[in-house]
Amino acid sequence: MKIHEYQARELLADAGVPVPASSVVENVDQAVQAYDKIGGMVVVKAQVFAGGRGKAGFVKLCNTADEVKTAAEFMFNNRMISNQTGPEGVEAKKLLVAKAVDIESEYYMAVVLDRTKRCPVVMVSREGGVEIEVVADENPDAIVKQWLDPHLGLMGFQVTKLVAALGLTEKDQIKAAGKVLRGLVKVFYQYDCALAEINPLIRTPEGEILAIDAKMNFDDNAVFRHKRLQEMFDPSEENPKELRAQEHNLTYIDLDGNIGCLVNGAGLAMGTMDLIKLHGGEPANFLDVGGSVTKEGAIEAFRIILDDPEVTGVLVNIFGGIAKCDTIAEALIAAANEIGFKVPVVVRLEGTNVERARELLKEANIDQLIPADDLTDAAKKVCAKVA
Ligand code: GDP
Ligand code: MN
Repeated sequence: MKIHEYQARELLADAGVPVPASSVVENVDQAVQAYDKIGGMVVVKAQVFAGGRGKAGFVKLCNTADEVKTAAEFMFNNRMISNQTGPEGVEAKKLLVAKAVDIESEYYMAVVLDRTKRCPVVMVSREGGVEIEVVADENPDAIVKQWLDPHLGLMGFQVTKLVAALGLTEKDQIKAAGKVLRGLVKVFYQYDCALAEINPLIRTPEGEILAIDAKMNFDDNAVFRHKRLQEMFDPSEENPKELRAQEHNLTYIDLDGNIGCLVNGAGLAMGTMDLIKLHGGEPANFLDVGGSVTKEGAIEAFRIILDDPEVTGVLVNIFGGIAKCDTIAEALIAAANEIGFKVPVVVRLEGTNVERARELLKEANIDQLIPADDLTDAAKKVCAKVA
């Protein structure tokens, strides 16, 4: 799960990280009102789940209410396209109007899960700002890392090493940067983050250390134990098909191809996608109905797949273990009656109650339903149908 910058700023501020004052707005009038309250120089920032906003023109410094109005109109009326979005870009539904600061230096500070070492890694750089990816590629030594013991967390000596890498010389600034680092790591542990990043952390000419942009991702499997994150969840930023599937306990991931897949079990779903690709097709989705699927769940799965206008063929691949083939057959029949199959549906069933399932399907005599003998046969048939 992701959250917006304004929400990440809240979590950081609560952990003792200094963050400039700001307001979140949902329309141009509110943006102008926010400016009237904050005054002076402000920065207007699109709240979208993608970085690279600065370069795309979706982070704008403004000195007057008129400039805020122009910036807000631009951000609400245009989709933001950056190197982190697809060519279709993303829409900003909210903007942040924040007190702007003068910047003397920009730093990078982040905590991410290092899956290879199986522990969090803290990374800092004195070359923060807009393109940390370029720094990582071209000058990796400019990023200093410390790995955290999952139980002990951030140790004092690590704070010293990391802050030293920022090249600060004033004692109170070193102390302030240490506090930010501890705050960031605290948020990372407290909320089960997969990523917690401040880019940039800045130093003002007066020597203040402030976080002016933040990004956080969380482990989806841990969100259930964080009420605060659940409240921050923004369904409008999620893929509606994926949300709908979640509500029915289906694991669904939208993909770019045209062959809809309905499979039980994640491993089998991966294998099914591999075979589709082997035979020249492209899957439209990954859908795992799970081992203990009900008829209702399976019908909903068909609805989600068949609602997708990109889908020109479907492959149903069920290995009945706990899930029973006849349950899936009943769901297929119900879905066919309710929605009607406008595209070919190739069905491969094997396992528990498969004879009964085959009988049911034969009796139902569904248009567009194509039985397959085995998985390879099924993949070949569906690929041939959509070709
Ligand atoms: P991103 O491009 O999506 O990462 O958005 P950021 O919030 O990091 O902003 C991009 C860049 O805009 C920063 O690296 C700064 O150089 C600049 N910027 C953002 N906020 C301010 C501010 O308050 N004052 C000044 N002077 N520059 C800012
Ligand atoms: Mn940034």
